[in-house]
Amino acid sequence: MSTEDPKTAGTDFIRQIIAQDVASGKYERIVTRFPPEPNGYLHIGHAKSICLNFGVARENPGGRCHLRFDDSNPETEEIRFVEAIKKDVKWLGFDWGEHLYFASDYFEDLYGFAVRLIQGGKAYVCGLSEEEIRRHRGTVTVPGLNSPYRDRSVSENLDLFARMRAGEFPDGKHVLRAKIDMASPNMKMRDPLLYRIRHIPHYRTGDKWCLYPMYDFVHCLSDALEGITHSICTLEFENNRELYDWIIENVPAPSRPRQYEFARLNLNYTVMSKRKLMELVEGGHVTGWDDPRLPTIAGIRRRGYTPEAIRNFSDRIGVARSNSVVDASLLEHSIRDDLNTKVPRVMAVLDPIRLVILNLPVGQILELEAPNFPDDPSKMGFRKIPFSRELFIERSDFMEDPPKKFFRLAPGKEVRLRWAFFVTCVDVKKDAEGDVVEVHCTYDPETLGGDAPDGRRVKGTIHWVSVPHAVDAQVRLYDRLFSVPDPEEDKEAGFIRNLNPDSLKIVTARVEPSLAGASRGDRFQFERTGYFIADEKDHASEKPVFNRIVPLRDSWGKISAKV
Ligand code: ATP
Ligand code: MG
Repeated sequence: MSTEDPKTAGTDFIRQIIAQDVASGKYERIVTRFPPEPNGYLHIGHAKSICLNFGVARENPGGRCHLRFDDSNPETEEIRFVEAIKKDVKWLGFDWGEHLYFASDYFEDLYGFAVRLIQGGKAYVCGLSEEEIRRHRGTVTVPGLNSPYRDRSVSENLDLFARMRAGEFPDGKHVLRAKIDMASPNMKMRDPLLYRIRHIPHYRTGDKWCLYPMYDFVHCLSDALEGITHSICTLEFENNRELYDWIIENVPAPSRPRQYEFARLNLNYTVMSKRKLMELVEGGHVTGWDDPRLPTIAGIRRRGYTPEAIRNFSDRIGVARSNSVVDASLLEHSIRDDLNTKVPRVMAVLDPIRLVILNLPVGQILELEAPNFPDDPSKMGFRKIPFSRELFIERSDFMEDPPKKFFRLAPGKEVRLRWAFFVTCVDVKKDAEGDVVEVHCTYDPETLGGDAPDGRRVKGTIHWVSVPHAVDAQVRLYDRLFSVPDPEEDKEAGFIRNLNPDSLKIVTARVEPSLAGASRGDRFQFERTGYFIADEKDHASEKPVFNRIVPLRDSWGKISAKV
């Protein structure tokens, strides 16, 4: 994969920093970590961070990347999210080996570090409510106010902190705060909260603790305990870096990690934060965390994207120092690019109309042959496709009264049926409403698989499936989940109103008989319509179900009819 390619390694600013540290011999080995909070499923933004952290570790001899669950908030974390996250990281192609960690395993160590801060006069127990603390914090231009509890003695602080742990106080009664500087220009340094009381069981530590450390305290010290060398996070943590360093400097930390920030991935036509994804799932706007329209890794996997495509996408967007929004079409391009050379071509008619070949006798069946990978037929071999008097073709491939440049079927017009013959439309059959229900044609038996012996040419080639041999399949035509590039353009109105009402269209398609043998997870190109995958949950050979991964061409932004 390309992250291992020496040509691309060392090209972004993080890799350059690491290359310098390696060259100067600063570290024995490079150790990174991916630190998800198990409060939801991973999304494509996390994939960028995973590719970066695990990629950097892989590129450096002896390097390693830890998977660490940043689980210090008992309110939102669950074991099912831990399992889902592990599955997703593995699926993306990365391996943490023995290095699976949980911040909750460090609670005792962290408590010990907090005691050291108190002993050094660097932390105090504060009895203000969280609301009062917020009011005392000041603003960017106005310094904050010192807490009336700021000058408590070390022994009083130690006593209160121990009693907080012992469960003597209700939620919110006291917090532990770092004693730094209420006038600091960096708001994060204005005596930040380090611990709060929460009488809530934790999914791993149960009732053992009612005192839980805050993110800023947990994160840097977990990094230090694990010997992380480069703690790579997204830009919104830039202001937290000063606090990160302050905590490490003021406790006997076993190592001195450095934090570096990069631009998070933002993608248009979707939402990414776990809170919003949760709202979509719990509000029933999608079928679950693995709904193929979601940007979750589980959704993307079910949609039919490949890990290679996501890793390539991640390389393509690169690692930068300033935020930007990536166009969804770039992700779609990555998947097309990957599948193009990998998957067989088959024929499937999504919106069928009958075509009757008048000069082919009823009951006669011709066994034709088609290459599975036309660009290089030696690659995937050939399959048999039955041809008979009645075929299904795509409704949009016939027009009774076509415009000038319509090169498909119309009265009097001749086209090529893919891998078969030229046919000429000689008549149509209509129902009582006057709608065409059958297209009547004659075929030229001299034109099998190629051109006409007389040199006659046709401009269009259309796909088809033999009626008596066709297999019914449920086809789910997924499209973008939102109909506008920025679903949150109006924060107050919310993003739900921008859901694309056509993000899922379910049709009964008629597919060629070879597809009856498809297994869950098999991918195909349905010629002319897109890439599809046999659904990992609902597909069965008696009742095939295919998800559209991506159409063949980018049709967004154009006013073209979408299949
Ligand atoms: P979200 O805000 O989307 O809910 P999060 O930051 O709360 O995500 P965490 O589980 O805390 O999710 O994130 C784990 C790691 O993934 C962090 O290092 C975080 O910086 C990184 N990450 C999260 N979102 C993105 C993104 N959009 N692009 C790149 N990295 C991301
Ligand atoms: Mg977070």
